[in-house]
Amino acid sequence: MTLSITGVIAQSFCAGAFCGPKAKEQVILETVACNLCGSRRYKTVYEMPDARLFPDEYFTVVECDECGLGFVNPRPDRQEIQKYYPRDYYENEESASFARYLQKRFTQQARYLKEVEDRPGPRKLLDVGCFNGEFPRFMAARGWDVSGVEISEVSQRIKDFPVFSQEFSEISICEPTYDAITAWAVLEHVHDPLAYFQKASQLLKKGGLFVFQMPNFISITSRCLFWEDVPRHLYFYTRENVAQYLEKAGLVLQREDNRGNVYKSSPASWLPYMIRTRLQRKAFTYKDKPLSSREFRKLHHLQRGITAGLKYLAYSPASAVDRMLWPAVEAVQILRKTYGSSTYVARKRALAIAECWHPAAKVRTMSPSQGNGI
Ligand SMILES: [Zn+2]
Repeated sequence: MTLSITGVIAQSFCAGAFCGPKAKEQVILETVACNLCGSRRYKTVYEMPDARLFPDEYFTVVECDECGLGFVNPRPDRQEIQKYYPRDYYENEESASFARYLQKRFTQQARYLKEVEDRPGPRKLLDVGCFNGEFPRFMAARGWDVSGVEISEVSQRIKDFPVFSQEFSEISICEPTYDAITAWAVLEHVHDPLAYFQKASQLLKKGGLFVFQMPNFISITSRCLFWEDVPRHLYFYTRENVAQYLEKAGLVLQREDNRGNVYKSSPASWLPYMIRTRLQRKAFTYKDKPLSSREFRKLHHLQRGITAGLKYLAYSPASAVDRMLWPAVEAVQILRKTYGSSTYVARKRALAIAECWHPAAKVRTMSPSQGNGI
């Protein structure tokens, strides 16, 4: 990947409905070329703030003119991005309902690995972005030998299985080691996704599976409705982008699911978007997006309940109708393969990358497995 730090200072102004007082904070951003094709020609798709943590800081999402990959540009570099992942970002719910939700989600995720699970003999899984280790533990209970990758400090608390606490692309193993590698909602967060695809290919055994879930950049949810978690989400992918990444990495696409069975991506604000763009023939910018009911309650210090619901209805009647239409809109999205998130299953080719990338040395060396048919 080519990149250059150009000394761009993040614009710090208030244009959204959820902004606080104006504040000037200088964040050094880097301008990057397209991670997939290397082009430096791109156009702006939208601008939005870090609505979750720093609503005064605006970022630009661009689309590569050559390959259509979406990415935040300019963006916080690997050092600066740490500011956008405060410790409580990783905090987890401990309620019984959340535990039930996780069990249901993990069951869905495990289905993508059934082919490997049904093979005789031991099987090794590496879960990239394993957070506090719950998915690897779920798979360990099904007989898998599990490991994880997690760069946040939370990984330091995991004692019951091995965890690499560095970037996946920089871990020291170079040999085909795993029967499956998973990356749930990870590849939108990383600075160099191509290196992640290549590392997955390098570490998979012949016929092994790389299973990953990510935003679908052709969806209205990802492209138009301002629900991406910018700047923590740095990349947005079309299925053509995924095919090109897999080709570069020596992986072959086996399956794409675009139906939200792992992570939901509800088309919230779909109706206000349609009213403004189709009926009023105007652009739909971040300031035109109504607050979600959760944002509304937070802004007005309201507890969940009938009073908050009625106040929200008065604030944005279209949002109430919008909410009722989600199931129909989602059904159409699934039929048209335009749902907001996709899960992909790719298989390691018989012949694939056999080089070992040593980031410290900045050289490529050939691994012992070179040429022996991995
Ligand atoms: Zn490109």
